[in-house]
Amino acid sequence: MNPPVRVLYLAGSGRSGSTLVTTVLGQYDGVFAAGELRYLWQRGELKNRPCGCGRPLRDCPLWDRVRRELPTDRAAAIAAGLRGRLRMRGLPALLRRHRRGLRPVPAHPDDAVLADLYAAVARHTGARVVVDSSKLPPYGALLGALPGIELRVLHLVRDPRATAFSWRRRRGLDGDTDPELMSRPPVWKAALLWLVWNTVTVRLWGDRAPAGYLRVRYEDLTADPEATLRRIVAFAGVDPDGGPFTGPATVRLTPTHSVAGNPSRHRTGPVPITADVQWRRDLSRWSYALVTGLTAPGLRRFGYPWRRGVPAPAGAGRPARGGPAATGGRSVGVGRAGSTGHEEG
Ligand SMILES: [Zn+2]
Repeated sequence: MNPPVRVLYLAGSGRSGSTLVTTVLGQYDGVFAAGELRYLWQRGELKNRPCGCGRPLRDCPLWDRVRRELPTDRAAAIAAGLRGRLRMRGLPALLRRHRRGLRPVPAHPDDAVLADLYAAVARHTGARVVVDSSKLPPYGALLGALPGIELRVLHLVRDPRATAFSWRRRRGLDGDTDPELMSRPPVWKAALLWLVWNTVTVRLWGDRAPAGYLRVRYEDLTADPEATLRRIVAFAGVDPDGGPFTGPATVRLTPTHSVAGNPSRHRTGPVPITADVQWRRDLSRWSYALVTGLTAPGLRRFGYPWRRGVPAPAGAGRPARGGPAATGGRSVGVGRAGSTGHEEG
């Protein structure tokens, strides 16, 4: 029997810095930045969208080796099966099962294929840790129940006024020239999704398994990138020395083979890690008030102020309960990757 594959699962709401964190983590020895693996079947296999290395996924030598071990002819059915199992309307039942100590996402015949995918990724990359930035909590719950997977959850949280602003930006899925755009939910919907996904992430992992849960806020990560990444890497169980930092807030990035994510996953070379705070200036008063009202229960929990112009204190927020690995629930986040206007997602 092979040892289990350790998966570092980036959970939470979108536009919270998960792409940059994934790309930076992928620069450490023993870590493979897989990107949003839940999209492998649809965006990767069926649409043949670009790998992080720039090649269409089916032309990437690494993914070619992995794909040979998978029933790729069934990609459409597997993608449809996942969509059906991870629907928002299934959340109440998912949380009920979790409370009773049952598998949150019931078993399914495709589970064996998903377990094979992670095993194949670990085998062909030689990685000790596979970083999956799929974010969606139900998918993380599904992974955590698969045989042969040891799940650690990195919960990335960012001020919901910033994420709502970021969601409204018009951006190509893989860069400015990409005719296929990233989704642009209205601010009210972005606010509700933020509240739902962050609350569900805490319910699934923050309450019950703090040893396998680390919460990091975008604002804290961008305030002290190198130290925060060291903490994340140590939490993942990897040697934090020899990473990509050339300064406290600058990394040198080499291409990854991530499946999907924010377009910034294609950036290489020296990249400064700085907070994107354009929303503080450009988010309308009405939108600010709407998002603040809708996310009020979460603002308090994660340590964000109600009023505008009051920066969130570093490391604020209710500590993740108990666990030593949670380092007191202090949080990191990741920001815009530099000056070219590509905010993290
Ligand atoms: Zn590739």
